[in-house]
Amino acid sequence: LSDRLTSTFKNLRSKGRLSEADIDATIREIRRALLDADVAVPVVREFTASVRDRALSAEVSGALNPAQQVVKIVNEELVAILGGESRGLRFAKTGPTVIMLAGLQGAGKTTLAGKLALHLREQGHTPLLVAADLQRPNAVTQLSVVGERAGVPVFAPHPGNQSGTEVDDVIGDPVAVARDGLETARQRQHDVLIVDTAGRLGLDSVLMQQAADIRDAVTPDEILFVIDAMIGQDAVTTAKAFEEGVDFTGVVLTKLDGDARGGAALSVTGVTGRPILFASTGEKLTDLEAFHPDRMASRILDMGDVLTLIEQAEKAFDADEAAKMAQKLESGQDFTLADFLVQMQQMKNMGSMKKMLGMLPGMGQMREALENFDEREVDRIEAIIRSMTPGERDNPKIINGSRRARIARGSGVTTADVNQLLERFAGAQKMMRQMNKGGGSMPGMPGMG
Ligand code: GDP
Ligand code: MG
Repeated sequence: LSDRLTSTFKNLRSKGRLSEADIDATIREIRRALLDADVAVPVVREFTASVRDRALSAEVSGALNPAQQVVKIVNEELVAILGGESRGLRFAKTGPTVIMLAGLQGAGKTTLAGKLALHLREQGHTPLLVAADLQRPNAVTQLSVVGERAGVPVFAPHPGNQSGTEVDDVIGDPVAVARDGLETARQRQHDVLIVDTAGRLGLDSVLMQQAADIRDAVTPDEILFVIDAMIGQDAVTTAKAFEEGVDFTGVVLTKLDGDARGGAALSVTGVTGRPILFASTGEKLTDLEAFHPDRMASRILDMGDVLTLIEQAEKAFDADEAAKMAQKLESGQDFTLADFLVQMQQMKNMGSMKKMLGMLPGMGQMREALENFDEREVDRIEAIIRSMTPGERDNPKIINGSRRARIARGSGVTTADVNQLLERFAGAQKMMRQMNKGGGSMPGMPGMG
């Protein structure tokens, strides 16, 4: 009996705190998951410290075991840092909305320019793209191609000259091009201007200054820092450099179609506090999504199954029932067969998640209890209890031999089944009394302290 019901009884303990040992064990796993996801080390350190603090002061949950509860806190904190509710683009009240893109070379700025242009055009806007990356002649060509695909015009310094000379040299003044682009947008009544800029492979003070000059020339409503999700541990230095060099209002994470677990998302938001607006998920212009902090949190944690399970466990566990039960026990009332049935039903709800338990860290007792748990058992127990008279339910001690036989017949089970249920119930009742007396701790039960 005790093994099977341990976790259910454990759920009843509505008071108390998570133990430091439980918390630290789970935090170790979380730290590993975050580092695997390439979240920057200092961000991991700060993050796990704050989760630990929160877990230490958290009320013990009725529905979750300690490991699950810590994971839940971790997930909530992750979602909060990643931006809570995601926000969309901010538009200017008057005149063209200016969106400037900044980031390292290869981050996906030019591709994003096309994606945003298409996205905005489909929403009824009339964007104009500006090619302010004059670092390579090909950059202008690339933006022209992207603009054509998106069905959006491109403002470029040499629209006719796309011969693709191999000279890696400046072919114009990007600041002037950006300024002229804005003027053109005003004249032709484009309501959005998207400014593509140049980036180097590493951090480069000349290009950073150039980006700042472009910024000052067009005073953007949004400066989007575009960052490759695969950047790994460099995310923090890169984000900081762009924050200092140009500053930005939002972030776009690219190449999320790849293997990267997205630790960069946490690194960047953790360090700069700027929201992530979009996720880029492929090379096609339609591969652009609004950023969902909750999805990213579960990708970073790589514990999607655990998170699903936590959600279901909380749903399955009827908090009201638990509160009622706790109150009842506290007021000195006895644990009855009806209470017993409620608990068995809760176990049945949990039992339907049995399949997923294999993936769970730190589920020891719960897993064991549920593996032995036969869902049909609840139906049998329910039938037996329903075959009892109210007097028998209130006071099972009066159930003698002939009553047992009657109950067995009425519920379609054997007398031995009735006996077994009564024994189990008597044991459960005894435990509940002890628990009630002992202020919640159950003697002789491992992991119940
Ligand atoms: P820029 O140097 O910042 O302008 O970067 P580009 O827009 O030229 O992109 C660099 C490369 O990354 C190109 O080959 C793009 O096709 C590719 N790219 C951009 N965004 C994504 C994305 O979300 N997923 C994938 N798989 N590739 C992308
Ligand atoms: Mg580019």
